[in-house]
Order: sequence, then C-alpha cells, then structure tokens
Amino acid sequence: MSETLILTKRWPKKDPSLVGYRADGGYAGLEKSLGMEPVAIVEQVKASNLRGRGGAGFPTGLKWTFLPKDVRPRYLCINADESEPGTFKDRYICEYDPHMLLEGIAITCFALDIHLAYIYIRGEFAKQARALEKAIEEAVAAGIFGGPKLLGKADFPLEVHVVRGAGAYICGEESALMESVEGKKGYPRFKPPFPAIIGLWGKPTIINNVETLANVPWIVEHGAAAFAALGAGKTGGTRLFGVSGNVKRPGVYEKPAGYNLKKLIMEDCGGTASGRPVKAVIPGGSSSPVLRGDEIDISLEPDAIKSAGTMSGSGGVIVMDESVCMVRALARIAMFYAEESCGQCTPCRQGTPWMWKILEKIERGEGTMKDLALIEQLPGNIMGQTICALGDAAAMPVQSFVKKFRQEFVEHIEGRGCKHGETAWGVSRQAREALVGGNRH
Ligand code: SF4
Repeated sequence: MSETLILTKRWPKKDPSLVGYRADGGYAGLEKSLGMEPVAIVEQVKASNLRGRGGAGFPTGLKWTFLPKDVRPRYLCINADESEPGTFKDRYICEYDPHMLLEGIAITCFALDIHLAYIYIRGEFAKQARALEKAIEEAVAAGIFGGPKLLGKADFPLEVHVVRGAGAYICGEESALMESVEGKKGYPRFKPPFPAIIGLWGKPTIINNVETLANVPWIVEHGAAAFAALGAGKTGGTRLFGVSGNVKRPGVYEKPAGYNLKKLIMEDCGGTASGRPVKAVIPGGSSSPVLRGDEIDISLEPDAIKSAGTMSGSGGVIVMDESVCMVRALARIAMFYAEESCGQCTPCRQGTPWMWKILEKIERGEGTMKDLALIEQLPGNIMGQTICALGDAAAMPVQSFVKKFRQEFVEHIEGRGCKHGETAWGVSRQAREALVGGNRH
C-alpha cells in the first residue's frame, strides 16, 4: 500500500505557481474553512494531534488556545529560519510549494482572527524568500488575500510579509525571532511571558514552524481523524526527515510520524555509502543527544524517542559510519554553538567556547583525564541556567557523546592524538582557525 504524502506530493513537479497549485486542488482547504466557525478549525487542529515541527513538538492547537480572547491586534509569525545544523526540509516547502504554506497561514489567521502575518526566513535562503514573495504576489493578485476579503468571499483583510534575517542561528529561537522582526538585535527574551501573551510589539503572537502550518490545509480538508491516524501516539500526520551524513541516498523523506529510524536509514536511504556499519546517529538536529549504531531500532515519534534518551526535534537525521572520529564530530558541533551564542548569559557565553576548546585540545592529543572530567561536568553547569535553549542545545550533545563514546575520548588522551584522518569529519583545523579567527574567545 502506498504511503500517504501530504507535504511532498507536489515536489517532483517543481511547479510552485498558483496555477499549478490550484490545478492540484490547492486552496480547497481555505475554501472549506471559510464555511466553518473559526473555533471549529482550532478544534480540528487540536484533535488532529498536529505538533510543532520546528523542534519542541508542542501541540499546535493547544498553543493557539493560549491567545487571550480580548486583545487585538494579534500576529502570526512563521518560523522559516531553519538554522539547526542537519535540518533542511522547510526550505523545500518554501521553494517547491509556497502556496501550501500560504494556504496554511490564511486558514490559521482566519481561525485566530489575525490580520497580519510575517514569514521570518533566514538571510541565506534568498531563493526561497523570492519564491515566497512571488507566491504572495500571485495570491494577492488573485484576490486570495491581501484585499478586504479572503478568496473574494469572507470579509477578512489579511496581509502576509516576508522578513529576511541576517544569518544568526539564535534568530530561530522564537523570542529572538520577534526581536529581529521588530528590527532589533536578535537577543532572546526572558520567558514567561510567552509570545502568545506578549509577543511582537507587546501584542499576542503565535509562532509556528513552516512544516507545521503547511499541514493545516490537509487537516481542514480531510479531517482531524484522518491526520491523527497517519501518525502514532500523540503525534498526528507525517513528518519530513532530512537525512544527511554517511548514507547512500541522503535527502528529505516524508514518513509517518512514528516511522522507524533504522528503517529510514537502512532501507529508504540505502544504509551507509561506504558499506561500513553505522557508528552513530544524531536523530533530530545537532542539539539532540546522539545514539549509538545499536540503538537506532526505535520509533521517531517524539514521545517514543524520548524514552530512548533523545529527541526527533527538527527532523534532521545525521548518520555517521565507523570512519568518523566522535571527538572531532563533537568539537565541530561545539564550535558551532560557541560561535552562535548571543552572549547575554554567562553560562552560555563562557561555557560554550570553553567546551569547544577542551574538545579541540583532546582531539589534538593534548588533553588530559582532568580535561575529560571537566568536559563531563561542564554541561550540567549550563543546562537550565540560561535565558534560552541554546545553552541546553550546546550541552546535550556534549553530555551524550562523552557518555556513549567515552572510550574514544580516553584513547585520544592516552594515545596523544586521533587515529582518524585529518578531514574524516567536518572542516580541517586550518579552516576552523580561519573561520573563528584563532583565539577569538
Ligand atoms: Fe544568548 Fe546563549 Fe543566553 Fe541564549 S543561552 S540568551 S544564546 S547567551
């Protein structure tokens, strides 16, 4: 039996036009929603078990109910920053099927009485930003939104704008994203209050990920029960998994939310490109705790994978075969978070470069067992001590890599170096130094 595809079914056509989208039945969900009570749409989304696809996996319909009933204006922000390393699926929705996202935005705004939406997209996604802008122009010209009515029928003015970021990872964090939309430096805000209460310009704001909202038209059209049935446990629908690293067929795969991780890697992606055994898998973007190769026979459903001590996060699956040096891989991840810390809070500002430097030292063969003890202790002093989740995002991989592959760290220390080649993973040492300007921290 063929699998149901919601998000990728139009991708092979590579036709992002309004004409093409409508020819394939596009905007039928919006049409249907205009005949529904807004509260009934929210109930549908709640019952569908749609959960946020940006990383946290929070129930979407429940999030929508947090909006205070009597405060206007209120805003919708669509998070298209997609900056978590290993994650590369939202960009394809923006590029190959932008009207699916716009339809999801229009339905969401109608359901929540929101008249202004911002798609926040990272600066590097120039092509995708242009695709979205073109799709908005088409939708406005066709009277779908942008005027006084939705689809030329319901009295409901709605504006949708694209806002381009400037390439900072932290602007994918929802409160930093709002700061950036407001034209300020992307510093995360203290929470609470949460954006649904005090968001953009101090007004209630719902922030949803691209993939999350792209599911909404299908839910309205086909019903909450059908969507829920595609998934598993408390997660409805399909999910996009971007598989990269040492696999034969890397790419974006749309699979039921409870799909098996091992099956995804070994069957859909054809196993490792080298034919070597899988050594490790990061299942949900670089901040998710790593799994050993013998731990991957598990469901990717967020609650199920949590019991294995990790998360499916943003759906970025990174596969490493036996040739990968785990110390170097971790040092590369640690460098990223050290570079991207906004510097507002001490444990993150000081702790992330400290972890990175210790890991580099161990990888070079200059580390000691005292360094290993320190790297085991440091993440615990960062986690839960910071304004935003970047601190935890930097600490979790360190904790899990050292715990799962401790012997490899010991071998680097006792053997005074790495037995793997210089560029077995990540960038070379010279490139790393050029990238961070030597002793930046
Ligand atoms: Fe900035 Fe890091 Fe603190 Fe987040 S945890 S606010 S990125 S310093």
